[in-house]
Amino acid sequence: MTATGHEVSRSRIAEIGAREEESYRQRTRRSAELFERARRSLPLGVASSFQAYDPYPLFMTDAQGSRITDADGNEYIDFDMAFGVLAAGHSHPLLAEALQHRVANGTCYTFPVEDGIALAEEIRARFGADLVRFSNSGTEATMDAIRVARGYTGREKIIKFEGGYHGHHDDVLVSIQPPRDAMGPVESPNTVPASAGIPRSRIAETVIAPFNEPDMLAGILDANQGQIAAIIVEPVQFNIGVVPPKDGYLQRLRELADEHGIVLIFDEVKTGVVLAWGGAYEHFGVKPDLFCLAKSIGGGIPIGAFGGRREVMAVIETLEGSQHFAGMGGAVGTAVEHSTIPSGATRVAHLGTFNGNPLSMTAGLVTLTQILTKDAYPRLHAMADRLTAGSQAVLDELSLPGYAINVGPKGCVMFTPDRVTNYRDFIGLDADLWAASFFYLANRGILLPPGPDDQWTLSVQHSDADIDRYIEVFRDFGRELVA
Ligand code: PMP
Repeated sequence: MTATGHEVSRSRIAEIGAREEESYRQRTRRSAELFERARRSLPLGVASSFQAYDPYPLFMTDAQGSRITDADGNEYIDFDMAFGVLAAGHSHPLLAEALQHRVANGTCYTFPVEDGIALAEEIRARFGADLVRFSNSGTEATMDAIRVARGYTGREKIIKFEGGYHGHHDDVLVSIQPPRDAMGPVESPNTVPASAGIPRSRIAETVIAPFNEPDMLAGILDANQGQIAAIIVEPVQFNIGVVPPKDGYLQRLRELADEHGIVLIFDEVKTGVVLAWGGAYEHFGVKPDLFCLAKSIGGGIPIGAFGGRREVMAVIETLEGSQHFAGMGGAVGTAVEHSTIPSGATRVAHLGTFNGNPLSMTAGLVTLTQILTKDAYPRLHAMADRLTAGSQAVLDELSLPGYAINVGPKGCVMFTPDRVTNYRDFIGLDADLWAASFFYLANRGILLPPGPDDQWTLSVQHSDADIDRYIEVFRDFGRELVA
């Protein structure tokens, strides 16, 4: 018996896991063939290592609404929704129509467009922000926000939480899911690179803290007095399942950042415009200095954004030492308000060929002003609560070791009996049980993200019937486990 009920027999989990993996192989032969071909050209056979999993990933061909179809023609109700990108659902009709016009009329100008202003205005309204800049991914958004924070404070170190994910640039690709023997003491965790190829000098600038432990963070701040430029945090740790902040925790981060003159950055790449109209800022009522967005704001088109307080964002100016305007004889330079190049590196560069391109600006504007409007959120929350309640009922009924949890339209079953409050608890998760459930559900048309560190995301195009089907299949899985 565990804290919540029966210990599921290890041999039963292994038996169902093996059977379901075999059935997966039988149903998805075309994906297996494509994977073999892909491996000859792409490391791990995929474009991003997050897409790789054993025995091989599904290759997809089409998706609409809440449905996605694989290369063998199997249809799934998609609860992965592209790692949480698709709160608008696949190819929302309003978006598809707007993008058809866009695709036929130029998708990249490297000149600004009016939709970019309107999208910036919409984001300002939702997040109570003064200024916003666009990029093309969450990685770029956090990288840029961190540079702005460093430029603003004149300090170099940042604080990142163990188990948090902020993209794949060197500063933050550390202590994502560090091995137990490398992670060090909980009150001052080691900075553990999650990849080879990250210079030691970069790692020295990233200080790790445990999530949900404000007193330990206060100790770490005292030990790094006057050196920390930014604290970057996922308001809900959504890269180790679903780990919400304890009551008052985000408020405490706000206070500590203020006491130490640190820029507080909310990484809202997963939470923004998903948890609520105004993201985690609205949901928890705590305002950061800067926030980062990506994923859902583009409705399925690549985009990133960051923004926040005028005073902080205003460090962005024309590229330091740029020959761009000088090379044009100064004529353009004098016409552009901020083109005066200061002496000394006092300005933060924020750049990118595809930033603010018309395709992503239109996609973002339509997604936010026509699809993920204020009235979309109550239904998203109601569906999510239905899915969590239904999953929890199955766990209770069958005394399975785990709990169902969601924050807004994102949730999962955490296969561990005790509540997870930070990464060190998450390590206890039953990965075999999770894998058996992933393949069992996939084989019956319920697609979850391929990893226990991710979670389901609901979209405005999911229905109650989709939710009920998920619960029904999950119940069948549970019954087989305890049979
Ligand atoms: N921040 C968070 C919280 C994320 O979950 C992710 C991606 N999963 C990123 C940043 C990076 O975004 P991208 O993959 O678009 O670079």
